[in-house]
Amino acid sequence: MNSVTQKELLKKFFKENPNRDISHPEVVDWATAKYKKQTGKVFRDADRGIRLLAQSGFLIKVKKGVYRYDPNSIENIELEDFTTAQKKIILARDNYKCVVCGRGKKDGIELHVDHIKAKDLGGKAILENGQTLCAQHNFMKKNLKQTETGKKMFIRFYELAKVEGYEELKKFCEQILEVYERNNINSHIKWEK
Ligand SMILES: [Zn+2]
Repeated sequence: MNSVTQKELLKKFFKENPNRDISHPEVVDWATAKYKKQTGKVFRDADRGIRLLAQSGFLIKVKKGVYRYDPNSIENIELEDFTTAQKKIILARDNYKCVVCGRGKKDGIELHVDHIKAKDLGGKAILENGQTLCAQHNFMKKNLKQTETGKKMFIRFYELAKVEGYEELKKFCEQILEVYERNNINSHIKWEK
């Protein structure tokens, strides 16, 4: 609990002083005094706290003992956005085509790099979690995000029907799930046929 507060204090200082090269003593003195005032306790090893923030990508190490907070570079890390370089790789891997409809650059279609598993569901900015979508399919996917429960339910019914040999129900679920797949809706929820 204390360590969280200490970390938050350090972050607060850097956030209030963006894009400036700051040496350890300035932030350490401030954080130590502030912490003492707020908790009555001694802030131990603030230097280490700063180094950890740099290691996690929150701060840029300018040189030994000097750090900088750049809100633009941190945004990527915190929001798990793809970097420009990653986007280029993903677009090339998918041949500059929407993975759903196959339309692309050649057809004058605007392409987006999408998180297969959404950021707010813990989807990471890694190449395996990226896919190329046209603007239309990206829009549709985002708007139908809340249909996850439905997909999970049909997968459950499908499994049940398979076990019980209930062909009609199995076929029905299959048809619905194929529509999900065809339109790339909730593709992070895997349906094993
Ligand atoms: Zn498309």
